[in-house]
Amino acid sequence: MALYGGIEAGGTKFVCAIAGGPDDLRDEIRFPTTTPDETLAQAIDFFKSHQMDEPLQAIGVACFGPIDPNPASPTFGYVTTTPKPHWAHADVVGRLQAALHAPVGFDTDVNGAALGEHRWGAAQGLDTFVYLTIGTGLGGGAMVNGRLLHGMMHAEMGHMRIPHDLARDPYPGWCSYHGDCWEGLACGPAIEARWQMKGRDLTPDHPAWALEAHYLALGVANIIVTLSPQRIIMGGGVMDQQQIFPMVRKEVQKLLNGYVQKAEIQQQIDDYIVPPGLGNHAGVLGAIALAMDAAGE
Ligand code: ADP
Ligand code: ZN
Repeated sequence: MALYGGIEAGGTKFVCAIAGGPDDLRDEIRFPTTTPDETLAQAIDFFKSHQMDEPLQAIGVACFGPIDPNPASPTFGYVTTTPKPHWAHADVVGRLQAALHAPVGFDTDVNGAALGEHRWGAAQGLDTFVYLTIGTGLGGGAMVNGRLLHGMMHAEMGHMRIPHDLARDPYPGWCSYHGDCWEGLACGPAIEARWQMKGRDLTPDHPAWALEAHYLALGVANIIVTLSPQRIIMGGGVMDQQQIFPMVRKEVQKLLNGYVQKAEIQQQIDDYIVPPGLGNHAGVLGAIALAMDAAGE
């Protein structure tokens, strides 16, 4: 059976896996994201040790960004302008290819997760949907008419502007570029800075979650009217707070105010705004899906 390597390359940690498919994860390691030299060397060592037993058909990288995902560009496979120290203009694909001699598929972490969810998870059978992660950052990947959305670069949904009522929430926002953009108001570190407590330590009935659901719903409503997705998948550490889902759904309905007259929104919203079908493996299995595509399968 053909084997693939996958890297969920996060700004905080790398998860590397070897898999034949979604139900055939052979090995997995995780380590902190330090410098490109050190971190990519660790990934390469992991894959090389496996290649001695069995060849890998391809490697897939679902990468934190911004990145250059355009194969025709001279900087294809690079992390581009990230504020993360050492990683600006780091060549990820080139180094992996040179060391592992295998095709490398490369996309954003959220586009990768969207691809995995399309193939094996909560977006099977759809052609237009969005995958959001709400974690250390807030980002969205999209499939539109059956293809992952790239356009000029890739979507940066986390940086959309949403209304910020300073009387209700004086917190100025976390984003180093925009302050109170969507990510700036709703990512995990923003919750922690606003309430001076880790998200996972706030009780489920803490007012933090109603405010969080309010911000998430504002962005989700904007995405619905912009891309007309058939479903929205919401993952990432913050969404481990399962009680947010019903609040987001209800507020999205309120914000759209009957304008989008579709059963998905009006009657079946529980099946429209959903957690990842692949659970916390959405990221790394997305990378495996990118590898399969890079191998031409
Ligand atoms: P990353 O974004 O680095 O891939 P995660 O998706 O796990 O990782 O997101 C980490 C963020 O999510 C942190 O800001 C953390 O505080 C927050 N987080 C993690 N678990 C929970 C939880 N159970 N409840 C609320 N927030 C959480
Ligand atoms: Zn921003």
